[in-house]
This record gives sequence, structure tokens and C-alpha cells, in this order.
Amino acid sequence: MNQISPSSASEELPALRIMSLHALAYCERLFFLEEVEEIRVADQRVYAGRTLHAAELPADGGELLNATLESAAWGVKGKVDYLRYRDGLLIPFEHKRGRSREDGAWDSDRLQVVAYAALLMDHLGRPITEARIRYHANNKTVRVVIDDAALADLRRAITRARTLAESVQRPPVAANENLCAHCSLAPVCLPEEERLLRAQDEEATPTAIRLFPEHDERQVLHVTEPGSRVGKQGEEIVVTPRDGDPVKFPGRQVGAIVLHGAAQITSQTIHYALAHNIGVHWFSGGGQYAGGIAAPGGVQRRHRQFSGLSDRAFCLQLARRLTRAKVANQLHFLLRSARSHGVRTEVEEAVAAMRAELRGMDRAEDADQLRGHEGMAGRHYFSVLSLLLDPSAAHMQFVGRSRRPPRDRFNAALSFGYALLYRDVVAALLAVGLEPAFGFFHRPRSAAYPLALDLMELFRTTLVDMPLVAAINRQQWREEDFITTAGQVWLADTGRKLAIALYETRKQEVWRHPVVGYSLSYQRAIELEARLLEKEWSGAPGLFARMRLRG
Ligand code: SF4
Repeated sequence: MNQISPSSASEELPALRIMSLHALAYCERLFFLEEVEEIRVADQRVYAGRTLHAAELPADGGELLNATLESAAWGVKGKVDYLRYRDGLLIPFEHKRGRSREDGAWDSDRLQVVAYAALLMDHLGRPITEARIRYHANNKTVRVVIDDAALADLRRAITRARTLAESVQRPPVAANENLCAHCSLAPVCLPEEERLLRAQDEEATPTAIRLFPEHDERQVLHVTEPGSRVGKQGEEIVVTPRDGDPVKFPGRQVGAIVLHGAAQITSQTIHYALAHNIGVHWFSGGGQYAGGIAAPGGVQRRHRQFSGLSDRAFCLQLARRLTRAKVANQLHFLLRSARSHGVRTEVEEAVAAMRAELRGMDRAEDADQLRGHEGMAGRHYFSVLSLLLDPSAAHMQFVGRSRRPPRDRFNAALSFGYALLYRDVVAALLAVGLEPAFGFFHRPRSAAYPLALDLMELFRTTLVDMPLVAAINRQQWREEDFITTAGQVWLADTGRKLAIALYETRKQEVWRHPVVGYSLSYQRAIELEARLLEKEWSGAPGLFARMRLRG
């Protein structure tokens, strides 16, 4: 009994956390996401759901341990929370919130206590023949025999974990959909979207479950007042204006901090933000996106990205899908607005020309040809955009796109809106673990990240053009919202606040994604498309850039 020791354990490899073996037994992909790709977003939810805290344990004569133990022989480490002596035997205990399986312990829980027993045996130098798992939801204690078979299972699991850890490819989604319904990493893993793809391939109907949240409950904190200072007190982010009282925001409710112009942030707050998956971004006073930071990670995802992007035919296929989606959105907006403004005839020529460019995109043999068609379609779109503006808003009229610098108020507001969108897209790409500097359509011609410029194309019309045109027609923009200098127009402080409010409000609107078939806010749609893009080179291609503007 208890003679088996693992031949595969190596002192050179970092010890595996026992909780990672629990994840492995639950779903190999969960293990990979948590331990290899180091996606930490859901640690708290995952583990809080799996194990009871010491303070919640019943007082029944056991002994609480506080030390983390590590076994070089097994190559694992973990914290055995709870030990008991029964009839002279030492028994590791594990308490679970949930219910047991009908016939005993869940495989993942069993593997976990076997690992604890192995760790204790190695540490104490005495045999352990039994572990127990207490399931509180159905008030049942399950005994787990620690014998050669149990230790052999542990050895197999450790070997499998080591093999997976050396791969850059994610394992497939779990065959059992019920596992995903209780998995906190489902919004990152997107198992239902992969099943949808599989169902499309097999012409089957996928089960309709929603695992990707409709809203991101965390908000973007824009700091626009010059001289404001962002600090932190405990778990709160504190914004102190130059002349005014500090305002506090719970850190868990903040998804990003965006500093505009001369706003300051402390190093402590930056550290806190990195540790809590909160992006920090800077805009210049003129509304240009200056940069941002996010926690490191995503090594495996970047490897897959580089390898995917080295395939030219694949990049052309992605770019074609992207540009078709962009032009389809522009066409839809033009046609719908032209109808309601009674200028349908005036835009018909531009619409016909854009449709011709769409056909040209289908025939494009390389990225240059595709860029040519996309650029021409954009020119036709902007040539008639001014027809959608209420003539009474004369100060916001638009005669053509001008970028650096914007030469009229419309262009100033449009460019600032695109800069806000660019920030969100960069943040989404970094959150998904992609390298924004390597794109499949845009060329690296400026400091802007090509992959962010690629992904932005899906959202420009919906998140920026449409709300801007609507706000102009509602007479929301005033001349004093802008500063005009020789040949350039910038947003004044009030203009910046209005643009942020329009953009952030639009982002929260809920919309039904036509392909995955569920509703989500535009903010979440950016992240969803970034994740679907990542799947294009991670073994589940076909869903990216198939979204279209709603009717
Ligand atoms: S969502 Fe499903 S497939 Fe993805 S990690 Fe969780 S259990 Fe595994």
C-alpha cells in the first residue's frame, strides 16, 4: 500500500498546484486556461464555489492547518486545510459547498484529496489510508480510499498536466455541456460558440445556453478634469479633483481607468489596477489615444496568433470577412437613415457604388486589392454622410473626412469617438491575450496597433458614426463644445464630456448578435469579437466578423 511514487516528477519543473489537478479532472481545457494561459479573471469565483472557508467549517474536533506543503517527489504543492485523527489514523478532510454525486465523490474532488494525502505522506513520512470529503449541500461525507490505484490515478493526472503544460494548443471544449454551465471561465472559453460552429458543420441544432454575460458589470472611469489625481485607499479607487472633494469608487466595479489630459495617477493605483485586471489608459488633451497598460500574459495565445498570421491565404480570408462586415454596416446605416430623412434618391448612387466595391472584395486576390475596394467604399460612404445631417445644425456640417488634424467640428467629434473606440479595442485585445501590433489587414504605418485598427472596423459605424449623427440631429452639439485654432478643430472640455457620454451610453445598449444568437451590450460585443478572433487561429475558426448592424 502507498508504495507508488511518480516517475515523472521533476525538481526542475515548478510544482503543480493541487487545485490545478482539481481543474484538470473537471475539464482539461479549464486546467489549460487557468494554469498554462494563466487566465486569472475567475479565480475567486471558481475557488470560492469549490471550497468552504475555514471560518465556515463546523467545530467538530479537527485541526486546521495553515501551511502550504510541497512535495518534490510528486511535484505538487497545496494547502491541506483540515486534518482529523480518527482511531489513530490521520485523515485529510475537504469541505465542499455543493452536493456529492449520487454514488460518491466527484472525480475532481477525489483526485484533490488523493493529492493531499500523497503530499501529507511525503511530508510526514507515515501512511495515510483514507481521506474524506464533506458535501454540505446534501449533508453527506464520502470516504476515499488511498491505495495504490488511487495513487496511480494521481500519477497519471500529474503526467497529463505536465504534457498539457508544454503545449501551446488549447484542449477541446468539454463534451459534457453541464460542466460549462457551472464553469466560471465560460465567458473566456466560449464553449457554446464552439459548439455552434460544430453544429453548423454537422447541420445540427446547438443547445441554446448563454455563458457569455450580457453586460460587463465593471464600468470605465474617465477622468477628464485637469489636475485631478487618481489614488487608492484599500479596495477603493479615489479621484480627487484639483478643487473639490474626493470621490470613491469600489475597485471591483471599475474595469478601466482612462486619464484625459493633465490627470495624474499614483504608482500604487497602477499596481492595484494591474493586479485586478483593470486597464489604465491615457489620452492627450487633444483627444489622441496616448497608450495604456495591462497585466502581462498570453504567451500561448500570441504563439498561436503569430503562427496563424503567417498564413497569407488565411489572413486574406479574415480581411475579406472584416471588410464585408464593415461595408455592410455602413450600407445599412445609410439606407435606413436616408429613408427616414427622405434622401433615398440622393444616396442611391453612392449605395450602388458601395455594392460594386463589395463585389470587388469577393474577387480580390490579395490584401492590396481588398484595401483598394474598402477605401473606395469608405469614400462613397463619407461622400453622402452629410445628407443625413439636419441642415439646421449648420455648425456641425461635414464636407469630407479630415484626420490629422480634424478641420471641422464634425471631424473633431468623429476622430475623438474613434479614439475612444480604439482604446476599448486595444483593451479587449490585451484582455484576450493577443498582440495588438500584429494585424491581418492594416499595415504598420503609424504608432497605432494594426490589429486594433482591424478589429475597430467592425464597430466604427455602430459605436461612433451613428450616435454622432443622431446627437447632431438632436441639436446636442454647441459651437462652444469646440476650440478652433488655425486650420484645426479640437473638442473643448464640454465637448469631450458630451462625446464620452454619447459613446459610453451607446456601449451599454444591448443588441442581439446574429450569429451566436444571444443579446449582449456593445461593450461586451467588442470583447466577444476579440475572443472569436482569437479562436480563428486556436482551432475554432469561422465566427469572427459575422456580426451585422441590427435593423
Ligand atoms: S467552459 Fe466548459 S469547456 Fe470551457 S473550461 Fe469550462 S468546463 Fe471546460
